[in-house]
Parts: sequence; C-alpha cells; structure tokens
Amino acid sequence: MDFIDLKSQYLASRELINARIQTVLDHGQYIMGPEVAELEGRLAAYTGARHCVTVSSGTEALVIALMALGVKPGDEVITTPFSFIATAEAIVLLGATPVFVDVEAGTCNLDHRLIEARITPRTRAIIPVSLYGQPADMDEINAVAERHGLAVIEDAAQSFGATYRGRKSCNLSTVGCTSFFPSKPLGCYGDGGALFTSDDALASAMREIRVHGQSRRYVHTRIGVGGRMDTLQCAVVLAKLERFEWEVEQRQRAAACYHDLLGGTLADLVEPVGCRPDRTSVYAQYTVRVPQRERLQEALRVAGIPTAVHYPVPIDQQPAYRQWADPAGCPVAASLAHEVLSLPMGPYLDRPSTHRVAQALAQALQGAGLAGDKAA
Ligand SMILES: *Cc1c(COP(=O)(O)O)cnc(C)c1O
Repeated sequence: MDFIDLKSQYLASRELINARIQTVLDHGQYIMGPEVAELEGRLAAYTGARHCVTVSSGTEALVIALMALGVKPGDEVITTPFSFIATAEAIVLLGATPVFVDVEAGTCNLDHRLIEARITPRTRAIIPVSLYGQPADMDEINAVAERHGLAVIEDAAQSFGATYRGRKSCNLSTVGCTSFFPSKPLGCYGDGGALFTSDDALASAMREIRVHGQSRRYVHTRIGVGGRMDTLQCAVVLAKLERFEWEVEQRQRAAACYHDLLGGTLADLVEPVGCRPDRTSVYAQYTVRVPQRERLQEALRVAGIPTAVHYPVPIDQQPAYRQWADPAGCPVAASLAHEVLSLPMGPYLDRPSTHRVAQALAQALQGAGLAGDKAA
C-alpha cells in the first residue's frame, strides 16, 4: 500500500498526459509556452477568480503574494503555527514578522476568535491555511481583516477543489495560493503553483514579480523573482484536470469509508479531523487524532500501513522560528502535534484498502492496551 498512490493515477490518465507532454516537446516553447496561458484560463474559470498566475511552487506563490501586497520589513503577518513551514517562511523571507495565532482543535484550522486581539498598527495581512484540504473560517477571517484594512491570503496549497459556502477555495479572499507539488490533490510532476485574485492591479503586480519585476522585456519596474512555472508542468496539470472532479469525489468517498469504519468501536480513541457542514474537503490528508501516536505509527508500519504526521512540531516551536513565538504559546497546536496521524489517502484507495487500514489501526490500539478485543 502506498501512502499516496501516484502510479495508479498516472496509469488512469497515461494517454492524455503523454500526449500533452509530447505536444510541448514538439513545439519546444518550454518557458511561457501556450499551455501556461491555457492552464491559467482553465484554473481561473474553475475557481471563479478573475485571474490565475501560475508560478514555480506553492512557496513562491506565497512569497509573490506578499511582495505584490507590499509587505516589507517591520510589518506583521498573522498566521497559524500548525502548517507546513512554507507558510511562515514566506513571511520571514520578506523581513516581516510572523504572528502565530492558535488553531481550533476540531478542524486544526486558524481559530478566528483569537485573531483580533493580535492585530497591531503594524499588521498588514492574515494568512489562514486550509489545512488537510478543508477551507478555514474564511468569512469570519475576512470580516476581521476588513475591519482593520488587512489583506487575506488563503494558503490553499492543500485545498484546491474544496468548496466553502458554495464558492471554491483559492477564490475566498484577497489572494489564494496553491501548490502543484506531486502529492497535492492537483499535482504536476515537479514543482508548480498558482496565485488567484480578482483584483486587477494585484494580478498585474503578481505577473510582473513572477518574471523579475519586468513590465516589458528588460524594463524592470519593480523587484521580482524568477518564479515561472514551466510549460511541461502546466501540460501535466492540464491533462490531470480532465479527471480532477472525479478524483475529488473519490477522495471524499474514501474519507466517508474511513469515517464509517472508525466511527464504531474505535470512536472513543480515534477522532477524525472534522469537516464543517458548510464546506467540503478535498482530503489532501485524511488525518485522525490518536493517543500514543508514535507507538501506533510504528505498529502500523510493521503491519505494512504507511502513515505520516502533519505536523510533528508547530512552526513557532521550530528552532529557526522560536524567536517569533508568542510567550503565551499556542497550546492547541502544541497538543495536536502529538496526536495527529495521517492515513493513506487518494482517489484510487479502494474500499478493501480502507478496511485494511482501519483493522490495522484497531489491532495497533489493542496492542497498545488501549482497545479491547472487540475493536479488532
Ligand atoms: C505544500 C505546501 C506549501 C508549499 O508548496 P510547495 O509547492 O511545496 O512549495 C505551502 N503551504 C502548505 C500548507 C503546503 O501544504
């Protein structure tokens, strides 16, 4: 069993992917070829955002979003400590200060009720993360931002395709950033990412920053980066888009299977991260909270079930980031870091496989003396 099965996905879309790649090899426009604009058009239409700007990775998308918003040294940006490091990394790369606000235990997403107390005259933006594929409480976060004149950047690296109150993730705030890293719900075969906005001025700033801040060739009107997504990777995403909606449904089906299987005798010990009724998750990860996580993870490994931990240490506790930790800490993130365990997930994970995982988890709990015989 694979933690994320990219091979079955390739086999299912092989002809389309190969043909798309061959087309690029034939026309030879490896940088900013026609597939780049084609993909941007398709993704903008999919999310409903007016503009999509593809870039070289999800991390670069966050950096470019902050640059386009004019975030500079001394500014503060509010974000979650319970995310992949790139979320906070983008802030400190620009010389700004990350302000870590704790998450909410049920969803592992930013707790919007704690944001307002942390806003200062230096705050410029809020970066909520739509963790594990489920959008954060975007309406509440946008409302706080609006009261204080702040921008909101949704880190949607894990949530492309998810919906929130009928709208698509990436189109829920000032800017949305996503990633096409191979293991993300919509992945390419290398690095890639995209920015989404409906603000024309921001979109043109982001387009310029992506290519060394140039408005025309050799005219550099601002400081930029080398941040283009290459044509071959755009071609791969275009091919994968054909089955994407179906794949999202299959992810949700697999998650529902897990939910049923874990909801019985294991319900007291295994708590899946919840999905709120007004939104959908694309389940970039299917994550549960368990006691004695290290022990269970090892027992699952021995049973041939690969798992992962997203994330074992909150960002504000990482050696390079502790200097920005709030003295009061982020206790919810700190305890989640000891409890979360992500199970194998993907559109090609069939029902028997989810059964195998659930059964192995029951046995592992029993082996740890936490569950009775009945559970296994
Ligand atoms: C993957 C990820 C990123 C970074 O994306 P890359 O394409 O790997 O640079 C940023 N934020 C979150 C929450 C992620 O999961």
